[in-house]
Amino acid sequence: MKERTLADFRPMQERCSNCSYCKFIPLDKIRSREFAGGCPSIGYYNFNTYSARGRFQLGVALNRGEDVGEKDLEQVVFSCLSCGACDVSCKICRYNLEPLAHNIALKEALIERGMVPGRVAEERDRLMAAGARAGLCAADLGLPVQGEVLFLPGDRTQESPETADTVCRAAALLRRCGLDIAALSEGFFSGAVLYDMGFRKDFEEIAKENIARIEASGAKEVVTPCADTFYALNRLYPELGLTVPVRHITQVLADLIAQGTLRLTQEVPVRVTYHDPCSLGRKGEAYEPWEGEEKKILNQVHTWEPRRPRYIGNDGVYDAPRAVLRAIPGLELAEMERIREYGYSCGEGAGIPEIDPGLAAFAAHGRLDEAKASEAEQLVTADPSSLLQLRSARRDGDLPVTDLLTLVLAAAGEE
Ligand code: SF4
Ligand code: SF4
Repeated sequence: MKERTLADFRPMQERCSNCSYCKFIPLDKIRSREFAGGCPSIGYYNFNTYSARGRFQLGVALNRGEDVGEKDLEQVVFSCLSCGACDVSCKICRYNLEPLAHNIALKEALIERGMVPGRVAEERDRLMAAGARAGLCAADLGLPVQGEVLFLPGDRTQESPETADTVCRAAALLRRCGLDIAALSEGFFSGAVLYDMGFRKDFEEIAKENIARIEASGAKEVVTPCADTFYALNRLYPELGLTVPVRHITQVLADLIAQGTLRLTQEVPVRVTYHDPCSLGRKGEAYEPWEGEEKKILNQVHTWEPRRPRYIGNDGVYDAPRAVLRAIPGLELAEMERIREYGYSCGEGAGIPEIDPGLAAFAAHGRLDEAKASEAEQLVTADPSSLLQLRSARRDGDLPVTDLLTLVLAAAGEE
């Protein structure tokens, strides 16, 4: 991956206009005051430094060598979910800034200086000890090790017998639909969470091992039910040499339904609302790191040569899960206020449930409240990690949280 330091972000830091749009979803998307927030970190701490705006200011101070207060600095920098909501909102109203990349670069800069809080170090060590080969393998999934489609079950799927069973049954369903599907002989952990925590070197080590395994498998395509695995393979791994394309399982299911290969015939009479996982949505869109020169015309207008792409999160996987849900007989889809690239984090990202449990619970409760306000009966998601996070945060009166795959299996008569 292209080397980067905090100094590379200096022009971006200086162009932050302190407008605070990054704290909210875009103004024209706001439907209520209660669900206007976009950034869980500023929502929980209610102090400017925790927003993308404040993080740019921290970056300016660090680049100038100012004394920011070591312990406070560490706490603020690592209490960011790397969810990317600020990145979308900022680009709607301002120049082509990339607050998400800057937030992660801040974490990388502190790690480089050895400023790593204990909980962050513990979570990093836990993930690295498990390594690239953690999780369910071909034998666990009941799949062969050779096939045209490589099925990667997900970074946290094995943590719950229920999610593991659902994913195994979903893989079997794909096989019955005619996909020549296989899995790796050992488990697979994408390492995306390490990247989002700022441990770029550790992430690259895991990613390179995984890329070699994927390329050696001979598969023409990867399919995964996991949002973080999709984000890693679609957005991060190509820069490290991955050539095999990836689809999320909802994209495969939507295609099979559209072709008439998968027939959903059983009624599932339930009103659901759908949570867009950040790593499947706005962070899931393909991304090419830009290289070029930033220029200022007449000391006023910023421009980039060559043209610099502007990623606003609208190319994530949003339509496929909704198409699958709408194909289920008897099911009704009620949308929440913050959806698609403006979706609100479930609190799962960047190791935050372990690093800052209060922040993780705050985000999850915000999402559960929003789901209840939609008047749905169940909150559905299409990612084992989001499912486990939302379920672990449920309070009395919150909606049950369901895996989209469970609904598909029921509608296909696979219960
Ligand atoms: S929206 Fe962008 S420009 Fe405005 S304060 Fe936030 S980071 Fe700065
Ligand atoms: S990435 Fe998410 S948690 Fe971090 S500053 Fe941006 S919106 Fe807030």
